[in-house]
Amino acid sequence: RQEQYRSLRDVPAVTRDGVAVALQLNAGLIVDLSHLAETGAQGVGLFRTELQFMVAERMPSAAEQQILYETVFDAVGDLPVTIRTLDIGGDKVLPYMKALEEENPALGWRAIRIGLDRPGLLRMQLRALLKAARGRPLKIMFPMVATVDEFVQAKRIVEREKAHLTRHGYPLPSECRLGVMVEVPSLLFQMDEIAAEADFLSVGSNDLMQFLFAVDRENRQVANRFDPLSAAALRAFRLIAERANAAGTPATVCGEIGGRPLEAMALIGLGFRALSMSPASIGPIKAMVLGIDAGAVAEFLDRELARNRDGASLRPALAAFAEEH
Ligand code: PEP
Ligand code: MG
Repeated sequence: RQEQYRSLRDVPAVTRDGVAVALQLNAGLIVDLSHLAETGAQGVGLFRTELQFMVAERMPSAAEQQILYETVFDAVGDLPVTIRTLDIGGDKVLPYMKALEEENPALGWRAIRIGLDRPGLLRMQLRALLKAARGRPLKIMFPMVATVDEFVQAKRIVEREKAHLTRHGYPLPSECRLGVMVEVPSLLFQMDEIAAEADFLSVGSNDLMQFLFAVDRENRQVANRFDPLSAAALRAFRLIAERANAAGTPATVCGEIGGRPLEAMALIGLGFRALSMSPASIGPIKAMVLGIDAGAVAEFLDRELARNRDGASLRPALAAFAEEH
């Protein structure tokens, strides 16, 4: 198996009916980036910046952050990398930052909410990113966005930082694209607006499933209660892909499901053309992509979703379909 996957390293991920699917890596520490060359991934679809903050003993300074991001850009070379701003709070606490006492931290003061309420921290990170990316393309995305307005506010902060750097004679990135994580269900009802506002979207299926089904992703008692291949979940993913594709806004899935073959097959059938995953998944997912007919998967899912009345999982049906084809 490993040998087979290694031999696929330089084979483009294209389905039997000619649909190209970009396979990218999720990363968070510099060591993760070594997997780029080894897997043949087409860049980093999600760089979780909070990991670096979580392993530090104190808040990294502006200069330290800039060096870190320069190291990331050097490591990826010409490949694209999507950097996510700090996704702290909830289950991700910084040991040196006083944690709030919250009844429901997953629903509490976290991610972009902290960024907008305490813009000093977000500004410092954005400035470090803009400086580190001088002369090269920069892609930034914001976690846990619940309303279009939150993203608009974040964009304004980026614009202000760019203006500040220009005023002080710093070179800017060659282009700066700003995206949104789709992981709070309220965005499903603002899809056209957010797709128009954002340069790209990335579905955080881990959190999206948690909030869609109201199941704590860390609570083993309930975490497996709902299947991401159930009808409601698949309809949610389809809605995101359809609206994003209609707007011409690229949409990736960067949650764990993108790294599982059956789930990834379904996502391609629903219209996604980019998946970001852990390094070990690239080989198996590429092998799956090479073996499927995206059009046939799409037809199969449309038919199954149209007749599903009980919200049950399509996993058995999808597994049978995959077996047959
Ligand atoms: C997600 O929520 O699916 C995601 C990719 O982000 P994280 O797992 O870091 O919350
Ligand atoms: Mg998330």
